[in-house]
Amino acid sequence: MYDVIIIGSGPAGLTAAIYAERAKLSALVIEKEYISGGQVVNTYEVDNYPGLPGIGGVELGMKFREHAEKMGAVFATETVEHITIEDTVKKVVTDQQTYEARSLIIATGAVHRKLEVPGEEELAGMGVSYCATCDGAFFKGRTVAVIGGGDVAVEDAIFLARICEKVYLIHRRDSLRAAKMLQEKLFSCENVELVWDAAVEEICGEDQVESIRIKKLKNGEKAYLPVDGVFIAVGIVPNTKEFCNNLEMNEGGYLVAGEDCAMKTPGIYAAGDVRTKKLRQIITAAADGAVAAAGVEEYLNSL
Ligand code: NAP
Repeated sequence: MYDVIIIGSGPAGLTAAIYAERAKLSALVIEKEYISGGQVVNTYEVDNYPGLPGIGGVELGMKFREHAEKMGAVFATETVEHITIEDTVKKVVTDQQTYEARSLIIATGAVHRKLEVPGEEELAGMGVSYCATCDGAFFKGRTVAVIGGGDVAVEDAIFLARICEKVYLIHRRDSLRAAKMLQEKLFSCENVELVWDAAVEEICGEDQVESIRIKKLKNGEKAYLPVDGVFIAVGIVPNTKEFCNNLEMNEGGYLVAGEDCAMKTPGIYAAGDVRTKKLRQIITAAADGAVAAAGVEEYLNSL
């Protein structure tokens, strides 16, 4: 029986592990994939983590992981299938075994949202991608489109502009949601063309992406843009649906918890992007990890 099981090894989970080790709690981190860091590892360059300006996403993820390991954190690479709660005993059933703990920190983060247009699924991996840093190199010297207007879409377009001949950024409105500094960088990229007020209706191609059909939302005009790749960055959905069914979620599937990360069920904490919160950043996820671990310590002392 562990004091705490931490599910997820992004910035929230790894920070929770560091704090749990400092508090001398017996802790287990369960991660789906060995590559820790969560969405951070898909980021080319992180420009807003204090003290480490411009650090690569993979490097930052690895630093978090090394830090947690150095503190003594124990990891299991397994997929959580469901959780059962019997008063103070929380059971975590994975694809390999069942673990028990007196408390849980759920830090499973979020994954990319699908655009849900014809061609997206059929051409996934054949020109359709959700990760510019992973797949960008395949499109060296070619033309690609990035869909979305948030931080991820703009970061992706800036990254791809260094590799590709031409990048279209297609956004459904006439202003971007991304941080202003990123917008400035984007606007200075000469090979990026912004396509405002446009929706992608279809991704076309036989065995490979060949074009996208867009609709201009102000006048209904339709057009085909010839592209070799499509990078979809239209937001995130929380990683909860599969195993959190007995926990309180909002309509978007985020786990309901306040700034203390405590869920309604005693001994269960939600940390990072998976939690209902206003600002989803690496730093706020890491902060949640610390807060949740402190909450666990307090909860265990009260038993
Ligand atoms: P996001 O901020 O939610 O932006 C999603 C974008 O996609 C929005 O511009 C949205 O348009 C558009 N969109 C949503 N659904 C769409 C659809 N069906 N069709 C077309 N466009 C659609 O998501 P994100 O960029 O993935 O970022 C996720 C979170 O991570 C955010 O909180 C972000 O701030 C954070 N993040 C932080 C950093 C950093 O701090 N360095 C880096 C990356 C991400 P509207 O604008 O019209 O809603």
